Amino acid sequence: MSTAIAPTPAEAVSTPRSASLFERAQQVLPGGCSRNAILRKPHPLYAREASGYLVTDVEGVERIDFANNMTSQIHGHAHPLITEAVSRQLSRGTAFSFGTEIEIEYAEQLVERSRGFERIRFVNSGTEAVMACLKAARAFTGRAKIAKVEGAYHGLYDYAEISQTANPSNWGSSDRPSVNPVAYGTPQGVLDDVVILPFNEPDTALDLLDDYRDSIACVLVDPMPHRAGVIPATPAFIAALRSWTAANGALLVFDEVITFRSAFGGAQDWFDAVPDLTALGKMIGGGFPIGAIAGRADVLEVMNPLAPKLLFPHSGTFSANPVSMAAGLTAMTFFDRASVDGLNELADYARTQLTDAIAAARVEACIAGGGSMLKLHFRASAPRTYREAYESAPRLRAIEVFLNLLLEDGIILINSGAMAFSTPMRRETIDRLTEAVLKALRTMRPDIERLTASGD
Ligand code: PMP
Repeated sequence: MSTAIAPTPAEAVSTPRSASLFERAQQVLPGGCSRNAILRKPHPLYAREASGYLVTDVEGVERIDFANNMTSQIHGHAHPLITEAVSRQLSRGTAFSFGTEIEIEYAEQLVERSRGFERIRFVNSGTEAVMACLKAARAFTGRAKIAKVEGAYHGLYDYAEISQTANPSNWGSSDRPSVNPVAYGTPQGVLDDVVILPFNEPDTALDLLDDYRDSIACVLVDPMPHRAGVIPATPAFIAALRSWTAANGALLVFDEVITFRSAFGGAQDWFDAVPDLTALGKMIGGGFPIGAIAGRADVLEVMNPLAPKLLFPHSGTFSANPVSMAAGLTAMTFFDRASVDGLNELADYARTQLTDAIAAARVEACIAGGGSMLKLHFRASAPRTYREAYESAPRLRAIEVFLNLLLEDGIILINSGAMAFSTPMRRETIDRLTEAVLKALRTMRPDIERLTASGD
């Protein structure tokens, strides 16, 4: 018997302006887009404008935004202080072949923010930040191999994306995960230099790392990988990676492109361990493109063009452009300790409310997450590892239906079913979310029961 869920009204709903824009888009953009994250069936929705936590589409329909451009809009949309700072900068020029004071000011602020940030270098995206961390680790250690966690998304750099889409047909045994390319044509040499670690399995990870003791430049880990179900790394996993890297001349690299929002100094504040390097992005741009590499001064010295020997030449036409600096500096100035704590408290409130909604709807589901993010799983308890969190086709379909029901009800989530909160939100905003989730879960109850019974 098929467990596939029938189309929902949202999938049939007529949104003529977005439909026709998608038609046009497909004539000039492969798949009609420049980023796959906007896609949904039957077509993406196109935005007209946004303010605070509300986004209005081209039909004029307003919805509450819990996606926040994939977690990056920490203060929601068009925040007046960010708009003012950016407007001021726009009228003064947007990019020069001179330095700007605002780059220094922003670097000084970020360096104050986290224990491990002694030096910082700005780039333009999270992909670029992760790439630069890996290249810096190689230059510093003189080693080639990168160890990374199965299923974790770190952007598009060849080495960082390996096994990001691992699935039961190719992931191999759990104590020796396969090394799977994502893009066709990935050179064999790349695969040979990547070691895949199982998430939150410290003993297995250490066994694997020991096999490559003398050739690992760094271990790259996201402290709460989105693709692994928005589940925090366990302290034992991080402690194992920290002590192994320190003992074996390798570096520990955190990808905090998403998780930096989780605590004042990033999710690394959750652990005793301090990483050697951290990749940043998303929210530190205040709504504009950005990335940054932060970490130990002696490691980042490999990028110092004034050093007697430059080990890692690095540049970028728009790196540290003053518009991203102005937006980022303003956004992070207002994401101070009180603001971080307030947002995390709001997320705690949401976790409680949504857990109550799941109980009231009498469906098998749970809430995972940490800091100001969470994700609803159609499982009795939160998964612990990437393989436990893996969403089979029927589960993906259930998430799709859930997203569509919420969309119909005026709520936007991240396309995995995850949610990221923004500072303009209040408890009433969460109450609106809870109400919509309860309604969607009640509608989906027979489907969820079938999903649970099927064992998919
Ligand atoms: N790392 C993580 C954890 C991410 O979530 C992302 C983007 N979703 C990236 C890196 C890449 O960042 P960007 O899209 O800015 O290149």
